[in-house]
Amino acid sequence: MKYVSTRGSAPVLDFEGVTLAGLASDGGLYVPEEWPRFAPDEIAAMAGLPYAELAVRVMAPFTAGSLTEDELRALCEAAYGTFAHEAVTPLVQLDHRHHLLELFHGPTLAFKDVALQLLGRLFERFLSQRDDHLTIVGATSGDTGSAAIDAVAGREGVDIFMLHPRGRVSDVQRRQMTTVHAPNVHNIAIHGSFDDAQAVVKRMFVDPTLTERFRIGAVNSINWARLMAQVVYYFAAALQLGAPQRQIAFSVPTGNFGDVFAGYVAARMGLPIKRLIVATNVNDILHRALSSGDYSAGEVTPTDAPSMDIQVSSNFERLLFDLGGRDGAALAEQMRGFDAERAMQLTDNQREGAAGLFASVRATPEDTAAAMRWAAERCGEVLDPHTAIGLHAARTADLDLAVPIVTLATAHPAKFPDAVERAIGQRPDLPSRIGNLFDLQERYDTLPGDYDTVRDYVAERATPSR
Ligand SMILES: *Cc1c(COP(=O)(O)O)cnc(C)c1O
Repeated sequence: MKYVSTRGSAPVLDFEGVTLAGLASDGGLYVPEEWPRFAPDEIAAMAGLPYAELAVRVMAPFTAGSLTEDELRALCEAAYGTFAHEAVTPLVQLDHRHHLLELFHGPTLAFKDVALQLLGRLFERFLSQRDDHLTIVGATSGDTGSAAIDAVAGREGVDIFMLHPRGRVSDVQRRQMTTVHAPNVHNIAIHGSFDDAQAVVKRMFVDPTLTERFRIGAVNSINWARLMAQVVYYFAAALQLGAPQRQIAFSVPTGNFGDVFAGYVAARMGLPIKRLIVATNVNDILHRALSSGDYSAGEVTPTDAPSMDIQVSSNFERLLFDLGGRDGAALAEQMRGFDAERAMQLTDNQREGAAGLFASVRATPEDTAAAMRWAAERCGEVLDPHTAIGLHAARTADLDLAVPIVTLATAHPAKFPDAVERAIGQRPDLPSRIGNLFDLQERYDTLPGDYDTVRDYVAERATPSR
């Protein structure tokens, strides 16, 4: 499989190349040159497979040319063997219509483990093959950081520099990052919001003073391999509920538009998805973009769902590229306008294309708490605030009543114990596999949010590419 940049002028790469690249050199994001497509009977034949095997079937078209199926299988079995549930992503029924897809049984209790446990192993494999060194720089609103650090801590050939917005991630999230003391792990708290941290990271990818000396890699969902791994659980859930004979809807708590873009990919691959509901909190740029075409960033409002406290959703660019006829030059122009104004209008093609598959709902803090109470009181399920936003959206979206809706349960409630306790009066316990997080020593540096300081910090500590 070949990959092209959404902005049309970066080199075409193979799967190994995009996995190690992160952001494209023209500032765009890599997408497959074309979508592989499964016929209904091929999808039907995937029913009943163990998760790792399903992952091989769904991902093999994307990794072709860089990994054999047996190599991919070995990586999937190792990655999904770290999960604490045999089903990897079990489906739980709430009522006659609503289901939860529990994506939080990995080592750091959020859905990001599903992709990052695989990505860490892909890095190690490709780097040892080339005898090269990778410097990962990332920004996290909380969960990517811990999942990425768990996935690469102690691995050969990789250093990770992870920026989190100081004071804006939960204690559990921060400690899951800062108590990992492997020498290749560097935690940085920066003054500012997640968007500020992400802007610094994005600049590092296109800064020649770094890229000439270091191979800079990404673990954020700008990395294609992450989205690819997330496509698998849409297939897993839909197959459980009767696909390909039956259409399924998904409600996805959304921040950077990565998880829901994976759902879009699943639909493009032939999975019968009736609707993808984009669930946002009050940081609702995506809701505004999808409902009125207005993609304009405001100020970030901190909420109980910090992983969704995002105004600029990187992966939305991938959707706009695909819906706008894959015209890299036109999209580069549109994105330059957005970068300058922090605002743009979607084109008619983009709006109409999105309307066919996407719906969107914005949840207030009251909506979120009410969804948590409904799930606890009516179904005996304790939800984290992100999942609750998804469930609120699922229960209020305007949709054919015969279509089952799967809400992606993106984090374990114990990652956000204060918010859960405020909503339902019950404090969720951390699963014992997480260990003694609150007794361990934390290690991180605090830096101002300005670009030069962070760049110099990384340049002083990273290992040059060979
Ligand atoms: C990262 C995250 C999200 C948002 O996912 P995106 O792929 O950025 O849209 C939602 N919920 C939780 C718990 C997360 O960690």
